[in-house]
Order: sequence, then C-alpha cells, then structure tokens
Amino acid sequence: MSKFGWSLPPGCSFNDLPGNQPVGPCGCCGRDVESDSALYGCICDECSECGEVGNPQCYEHHGLRYSLRQIVSRDNRRELMRLEVLAEQRYWERFDNSDGL
Ligand SMILES: [Zn+2]
Ligand SMILES: [Zn+2]
Repeated sequence: MSKFGWSLPPGCSFNDLPGNQPVGPCGCCGRDVESDSALYGCICDECSECGEVGNPQCYEHHGLRYSLRQIVSRDNRRELMRLEVLAEQRYWERFDNSDGL
C-alpha cells in the first residue's frame, strides 16, 4: 500500500519523498527523523501546507518558521559533526605519521 496518496508539490521530485532518501539527520533540526524519542527525535512541526515534517523547503516556501529549539539543535549537531570530522582526521594522521618508520 502506498502512503503517498497526495500529488507531488511543484518543485519536488520523486527522490524528495520520504522513504526514497537515505536516512540522515533532519535537515531542519538536525535530529533523528526515524526516532520517536523526545531526546533525539525530530522536533519539527508539521507543515500546514503539505503536511511534511522536517522539510527545509517548507520553511522557504510554505511559511514555516524555525523555532529557537530547532536552530540550537541544528547548531549543536553541526558542532558535533565538526568534532567527529576532526577526530577522524586525527585518527588518520596517526597512520600518516607512522609511515616513516
Ligand atoms: Zn526536524
Ligand atoms: Zn510544506
């Protein structure tokens, strides 16, 4: 059974549909879209235009406003990802440095 009973909004391709994208952090709040947990789950409001949750397009085109919680949450996520990248770089640098042995 298809859960997409509605027609696609203009500008949305089939790939934009939930379920056809790789699962990642929410593009609006940086939280786990798949999680129902209040701690980690997406905190975005449902769009009153198209009924989508956590779609950045809705904030550009459908008049949704980011809440302070969303912005803070997203920035935290960005900082976490930055630290993860740094940690990974450091990890590989260790290997680079041992090349000269
Ligand atoms: Zn979200
Ligand atoms: Zn929308």
